[in-house]
Amino acid sequence: MQLQDKVIVITGGGQGLGRAMAEYLAGKGAKLALVDLNQERLDEAVAACKAAGVEARAYICNVANEEQVVHTVGQIADDFGAINGLVNNAGIIRDGLTIKVKDGELSKMSLAQWQSVIDVNLTGVFLCTREVAAKMIELKNEGAVINISSISRAGNMGQANYSAAKAGVAADTVTWAKELARYGIRVGCIAPGFIETEILAAMKPEALDKMTSGIPLRRLGKPQEIAHSVAYILENDYFTGRVLELDGGLRL
Ligand code: NAD
Repeated sequence: MQLQDKVIVITGGGQGLGRAMAEYLAGKGAKLALVDLNQERLDEAVAACKAAGVEARAYICNVANEEQVVHTVGQIADDFGAINGLVNNAGIIRDGLTIKVKDGELSKMSLAQWQSVIDVNLTGVFLCTREVAAKMIELKNEGAVINISSISRAGNMGQANYSAAKAGVAADTVTWAKELARYGIRVGCIAPGFIETEILAAMKPEALDKMTSGIPLRRLGKPQEIAHSVAYILENDYFTGRVLELDGGLRL
């Protein structure tokens, strides 16, 4: 798929990886529909895309809310007249050990912690994929869906909720690739390692150094490197049902 003038929806497009993807795809001439909860961040991201000379619009929508997703996808199709790509990038972290015993006290990951991550990182991906795929079929658009997973899909301490959701979107990449191929819709997945975004800015420098030294390439990934792979999957018409691992060799 040539990206020039194609309409790409990016959830969580207001900041971090989503914003980097938006700017990268704008540089290739794509039109962007950016979905997020944060109006100010969205406005900045839309302005950055427009500065590259492409059409871009902001949509406030909670990807975990069915009614909002149905409404927003309909609105995007009305505004642009087509949808050719979806990047399921919106995600949250609510870490905590499932069971922790400290000073004789037992504490447990709350159901709210579990559920909020499952709602946004898994149910949100399902809802957006379902609605966008239906719209692509209705409008007879060629298209591709990309799910953003994580190396944590293999399991990670303190991330029972996040690991389950990220493994879930990798599994459903295969499910949807099989289900949607007959309509000419491809589905891919990217599992990033540690990428330089605001999530990591909150970490202590010592912890960050320790983490980086365990990466064979000895550095964090750059948001543009993830964006580059998003463009690759969108552009490569023979790519479907697979996960690209971009982690500097961390899982080797
Ligand atoms: P980020 O926190 O900087 O950005 C996430 C964006 O998603 C924010 O703009 C936020 O407002 C939006 N968002 C959150 N909940 C939402 C909801 N319910 N509805 C709509 N928008 C919502 O995070 P990031 O580092 O850019 O991560 C982006 C994606 O990449 C996430 O899915 C994350 O799990 C994944 N990931 C990141 C890394 C990393 O190292 N940064 C590594 C692996 C995977």
